[in-house]
Amino acid sequence: MTRKKPLIIAGPCSAESELQVMSVAQELVANSSVDMFRAGVWKPRTRPNSFEGLGEKALPWLAQIKKQFDLPVMIEVASPKHVELALHHGIDCFWIGARTTVSPFAVQEIADALAGSATQVFVKNPIHPEIDLWVGAIERVTRSNVKSVSAIHRGFSSFRKSAYRNIPLWEIPIELQRRFPDLDIICDPSHIGGNQKLVFEISQKAIDLGLSGLMIEVHPNPSKALSDPQQQITPNELIQLLNSLHYKSKTFSDAFFVNQLEELRSKIDKIDEDLVHILKSRMDLVEMMGAYKRDNDVTIFQLERWNEILQTRTELASHLGLDETYVREIFEKIHGESIKTQIALSAKTTSKE
Ligand code: PEP
Ligand code: MN
Repeated sequence: MTRKKPLIIAGPCSAESELQVMSVAQELVANSSVDMFRAGVWKPRTRPNSFEGLGEKALPWLAQIKKQFDLPVMIEVASPKHVELALHHGIDCFWIGARTTVSPFAVQEIADALAGSATQVFVKNPIHPEIDLWVGAIERVTRSNVKSVSAIHRGFSSFRKSAYRNIPLWEIPIELQRRFPDLDIICDPSHIGGNQKLVFEISQKAIDLGLSGLMIEVHPNPSKALSDPQQQITPNELIQLLNSLHYKSKTFSDAFFVNQLEELRSKIDKIDEDLVHILKSRMDLVEMMGAYKRDNDVTIFQLERWNEILQTRTELASHLGLDETYVREIFEKIHGESIKTQIALSAKTTSKE
């Protein structure tokens, strides 16, 4: 099958000078298959007194890159004023940043400013893992009838300690793809990783999952970058990264392989069916136990029992070579549902009454 080539977007986190953006663009165009050039002009910084971008001053440089290299140029817009200024300078590819996607008012204002324009718009996921806000922002922009709307997965901020700057939670872009099969979802490994060392492995993972492209931050001298110095890579490193990626097909034509795959899938289908039946049998027992606890005035939640369940199930998981956290999370879900069912039961009339 012919695989659609992933869309590659690259460029500095921020436009810092004419020379900086020009030199990066030149190097990328000459040596790689970059499809779009990115550069932040208005930077949403968490704290004041950080570098907030050069603003309108940088737009003519980007317009020049677009013209000179015939390369679409993409910037972040966070207000209708940004859209107006960018369109005035001939910039027609935009991303809506994670801090903007969280605000339906801000997204709607941007969508209104974009209405009917021939622009390509990419909507980053909101900072926190709330898929509906992401979907809502995509819908608002789509209703504005722009040329195209895509999504960018840039990871989610978390209190949990993690090797990532923003934890990927791949299940969220996967769920987005399930809901919108035709939507292009681009991965931003730079903001997920927050570290040059992680950019390649996250990019490969995104390609393995079949996402539609990558947006990677590139700077001529990353350690001197005015924003996100730890995660930017050099143009040369990007070229090497793109050459090292291993691409996979989404579908297969080899008959033997298809047969093998079908056989494994049908076994998995059977196991999943058994799993659902087992969950139903477990729930039948939970209901019997719930009624029994209710009729004997015993509290629903028993800490000791819950600790015992967690310990024995995760020990077994570990013994079988399964990830303990994976099994623990499944049992947290099962136990949560069990408590919910017992609470509902206890609200019903007891058999004593
Ligand atoms: C960026 O792409 O430089 C940026 C600020 O992204 P995010 O909105 O994902 O933090
Ligand atoms: Mn950045």
